[in-house]
Amino acid sequence: MTCREFADFIMDYLDGELDERLRTDFDQHLAVCANCATYLAQYRETVAAGRLAFDDENAPLPREVPDDLVRAILASRKR
Ligand SMILES: [Zn+2]
Repeated sequence: MTCREFADFIMDYLDGELDERLRTDFDQHLAVCANCATYLAQYRETVAAGRLAFDDENAPLPREVPDDLVRAILASRKR
């Protein structure tokens, strides 16, 4: 799996929607790629923040999360 593919599959991974083979590839990439491990951790925090924001529209987002990442996630949640 490439870093590009990893990024494409993060949402499905967090939603538990990857099939077993893809999930294995994903976990293997995660184990060897520090950049993607960091990206996943940041993504996960942002998704959690996004869910909080949906539960309570006045909930503040964590300041350390990049604005464009938040926007990308909120946009994808509207599908
Ligand atoms: Zn990577």
